[in-house]
Amino acid sequence: MRYLVLSDVHANLEALNAVLEAAAGEWDRALVLGDLVGYGADPNAVIDRVRELPIAAMVRGNHDKVAAGLAPTDSFNHVARQAIEWTAAALTPANLQWLAALPQGPMAIDAATEICHGAPWDEDAYLFDERDVERSGSAQDRALCLFGHTHVPSIFRLAPVVEAMLPVRGERCRVPIEPGGRYLVNCGAVGQPRDSDPRAAFGLLDSATRVLTIVRTPYEVAAAQTKILDAGLPGVLAQRLALGR
Ligand code: ZN
Repeated sequence: MRYLVLSDVHANLEALNAVLEAAAGEWDRALVLGDLVGYGADPNAVIDRVRELPIAAMVRGNHDKVAAGLAPTDSFNHVARQAIEWTAAALTPANLQWLAALPQGPMAIDAATEICHGAPWDEDAYLFDERDVERSGSAQDRALCLFGHTHVPSIFRLAPVVEAMLPVRGERCRVPIEPGGRYLVNCGAVGQPRDSDPRAAFGLLDSATRVLTIVRTPYEVAAAQTKILDAGLPGVLAQRLALGR
């Protein structure tokens, strides 16, 4: 099976459309790692688009959870809270209901692959570095766990010691997966990259050959920015898209 890996779309329709165009013909079913909404101005259009896709598995993100009213806004900073309150008000009742029903990760894809939003042991944990990852050895059931949440493309090899295989650079970065190895991989964010590269990020995984590629594609950042400003969302959410921060 050839999977398209989507994470952290964050209501950025321009980025999602660019990713689907760039990945056309290269995948059969999608893995969706959460945070479809929050920050961006197109929560309903993004959900509608994702619901049309052939989905193999999907888990919720922290923004999905808060937008759906399943978690309090306390954990969010001022800007994220403003955006999620706007999002909750903008979502249709049907999409709110759909978001609320998204399952919690981790979720198994096959004997060798699983997905989660933050970390295999905690959907809200951030895996930025080796120390964050060190706890995963006991909590990750499969050789490859795909995660999101940090918006930073990252590759961690778990054995013999936890090691960050960085940096992930270029338009197409093949993840060096070795047979028998255990890995935690973040293919980056579709809708709000934070590694100083403003291009949308996604993954392509061939489960038969175990080839995983992290791909970057440009999109119409200015159009997404205009929508954010027109919606009355905080200006910083528009500015950061151009910086990839
Ligand atoms: Zn996110």
